Amino acid sequence: MTQKLGYLGVRIGLLPAILGCVAGLAACSPEASGPEPANPSASATPPTETAAGPESLETSAAAAGASGERLQQTMRYQAMGTDFEFTLYTGPGAESTAEIVRIADLAIASVRDLEEQISQWKPQSQTTYINRHAAEEPVRVSPEVFDLLQTCKTVYAETGGAFDVTVGPLVELWGFYKGEGHLPSDEELRGAVARVGLEKVTLNEGERTVAFSEKGMHLDFGGIGKGLALEVAAEVIRSYGVSSGILHGGTSSVLAIGAPPGEPGWTVRIRNPYNTNKYIDEVCLKDESLSTSASYEKWFELEGKKYCHIFDPRTGLPVEGMVSATAIVPSGTLSDALSTAFFVMGVEKTREYCREHPGVRAILVPHTGGELEPRRIGFDAP
Ligand code: ADP
Ligand code: MG
Repeated sequence: MTQKLGYLGVRIGLLPAILGCVAGLAACSPEASGPEPANPSASATPPTETAAGPESLETSAAAAGASGERLQQTMRYQAMGTDFEFTLYTGPGAESTAEIVRIADLAIASVRDLEEQISQWKPQSQTTYINRHAAEEPVRVSPEVFDLLQTCKTVYAETGGAFDVTVGPLVELWGFYKGEGHLPSDEELRGAVARVGLEKVTLNEGERTVAFSEKGMHLDFGGIGKGLALEVAAEVIRSYGVSSGILHGGTSSVLAIGAPPGEPGWTVRIRNPYNTNKYIDEVCLKDESLSTSASYEKWFELEGKKYCHIFDPRTGLPVEGMVSATAIVPSGTLSDALSTAFFVMGVEKTREYCREHPGVRAILVPHTGGELEPRRIGFDAP
């Protein structure tokens, strides 16, 4: 049975605020974390905002003037259909805020280059070309896109197929591309699942080509692209000698470069989706990335039931029973991919993953129907 949802029955919801970052407002220690902030107003982004630099949309400087003092500058941009925000400190590599702004502008330029290559919404992108032609013949791609696909294959294998960038047919079937929820029939679901599975994508390293074994397959880098973008931006920023900064990609991924001057790390808070004055957990990041995947990010509702935008690629169904999944790991690309994977895998499988991958931490919030109970995983590892 196909049920085309009526206009009034459909609600695609967006809750943009997941991660809040606080620089220098709270001590970066595990003891400082907890389900409710000591000072709820502290979960705001940096305090003052002034007019923009040449390319950045908005900038803010937290401290001014005194010689030798390290200045903080925040730049905001639009890319990949979302907001990017880079907060960087001046230092030996970049001594003035004007230099910081130039470096940030170069970093966002490389994010936009990446977007041109991997966005499925850009008609000239490699992803668009792959999606159109890889079922007919192997498609040669850039080293960057090939590397990304290899990373996707590794995460796919290590998560038992929970993270799978071939989910495109599912995202489409359930109506998320159009922004109009659709409850599919069993037949439609079987048809889409048959076109999902990274094992049906052949990568030829010598030729640097990608081939699909089924017609109608569709790559969707929505679960990894922003994290990769932060990593690309961080590489540019670090290459100019900037040693302290925090980069936000949308509201679901952050990447910390070093720590704020004189502090052990950047305090990042995961906001409580049901009460934005509270947060569900707080972590300290230094040269690490944190991403959160959440059921409240994007969803539609039908007859009182909510369907979220993250799918179990093996069943073709939207994941149920999770509020959010957060992954913390040095690589931005991996934090983004793993947060999506952990959301699909749930608490026990994520525990297994973190046991096998020391250095990966997770915070999972299963749906209990009552108070949110975040589960920290991998935090005790040496
Ligand atoms: P956000 O977009 O908020 O950063 P995620 O990183 O979890 O959230 O990405 C969710 C997106 O990833 C979905 O909108 C969809 O495009 C894609 N996706 C959904 N399910 C999966 C999955 N199991 N594996 C990989 N990508 C997925
Ligand atoms: Mg993700």
